[in-house]
Amino acid sequence: MKSLLVLHDASAPSFCYYGSPEPKPGTKMSSEIFAKVLEYVVREKLSLSIICGLDGLDHDAKSQIEATDIPYFCYLPVGAAKGDPMEIPVLDASDPAAVDTLTGDTHASAVLRFSRQEVNELPEIWEALSRKVYRVVVVPTDIGKWDMDTISLYEKALAKMSDKLKAIYLSTGDPDIELNILSDRMVLVDGSPVECRAGHDHLTVMPDGTFSICPGFGLDGDDAVGTLDSSPSIPNKHLLLRDYAPICLVCDAYQCRRCVYINQRTTLEVNTGPWQICRAAHLEREASRLLLIELKKTGLFPRQELIREINYTDPLEIVLNPKKFQEQEPPPVAPKKTLFRKMTKADADRLKKRQHVSEPPPVSKPASEKMPMYKELPMATNKAVAKVTPEERDNIRKLHMKKNGLSELFSSLARLDADTLESSPLYDKLIADMGSVSLEFQGWWDQMAKNYSWPIEAGKKWRIDFDTCEVFLD
Ligand code: SF4
Repeated sequence: MKSLLVLHDASAPSFCYYGSPEPKPGTKMSSEIFAKVLEYVVREKLSLSIICGLDGLDHDAKSQIEATDIPYFCYLPVGAAKGDPMEIPVLDASDPAAVDTLTGDTHASAVLRFSRQEVNELPEIWEALSRKVYRVVVVPTDIGKWDMDTISLYEKALAKMSDKLKAIYLSTGDPDIELNILSDRMVLVDGSPVECRAGHDHLTVMPDGTFSICPGFGLDGDDAVGTLDSSPSIPNKHLLLRDYAPICLVCDAYQCRRCVYINQRTTLEVNTGPWQICRAAHLEREASRLLLIELKKTGLFPRQELIREINYTDPLEIVLNPKKFQEQEPPPVAPKKTLFRKMTKADADRLKKRQHVSEPPPVSKPASEKMPMYKELPMATNKAVAKVTPEERDNIRKLHMKKNGLSELFSSLARLDADTLESSPLYDKLIADMGSVSLEFQGWWDQMAKNYSWPIEAGKKWRIDFDTCEVFLD
């Protein structure tokens, strides 16, 4: 883990994809818990980002931080910004006048959240904001609800923003000016996509001192993944990574944040995004590609490599029709990019806010009526009732991964049009594979239960901790 996000006030407006909670009093982190947070940050050598509510970071909390000398950034509503360079003001496109309240030349970065209703106004609001900060991070608040009309409005908004950004680059000659959805893909430089990586690179401390993968999961009331007094433990943590996201693996829209919160809330799979995210990311990628061509003609960004042209709008098309795309080169190794401008690289790395995940829901119908079903939401609430060997664990983990991959493909099919679906040679195979993997999967549990005489209790399900090989019944 590299950094800690601290939700200092449970009423703090969102700075990211998760929804903003209703403001209410008495939801702040206590100074005792905040002191423990700071101890944890020092002990684990982490960087610190704080998410503040409407009244910003209070004097006591600031004094606590200053006493430790920990560098930090602070996301806060624009109305609470006081001009501190460590502040990252968060604005909402539904309140464009708020841009005028921001002091110019003090903040390096700002976040601008927008919904479907504000897509048309986005270019103007962003342009006004870009005059005050170097980097604007634009975040859609409701992308899971976008329809094709919103997607085409977004395409038009991207074209407008691209024209405006080009004009800004040409008039200022300053390549430090950034708009995440256009410039991030253009100027990737050091090896990795600009992803959130919640649960791996960072965790969130909720106001009560518990850990959550990202503020969104914690605010929704999902189970904590640890506390400041114990080590964090994230069930099936590997699923949060790109390596376990079959669709993302063939994609090179590296400006996409791969928000595991949105993934889980829309497709029920942390490693599969909704079709809207993929479509939007590919529109951004294409707009970045065209913009870079134009800028290079003028002599700007001379060292950046051109972005290759592609002929699909959703990487799922590659997964389902690999032959059609086999002529294309695989995605190049992704370069890395810092998130915020006019800061040191170390500061920017610290700011790599990225949040986290949860597991798919349990299968609704057990294949065996006699035996408890495997449960895919492992939470360590019980004592282990059994333990399997590492080899046995490896077998079920392989089946688990296979089953998840197939489920992801299934859940993603809904995003395809009928023609693509019908022409896909994979569809029938997927159904057959899913059937056999599900049987094999349940067969493993049935066989293990028989071999080891595992206990059975009505209404309870088995689950396994892949790290310890322990089996639980709960
Ligand atoms: S998972 Fe990451 S990108 Fe998604 S809402 Fe949480 S912090 Fe933001």
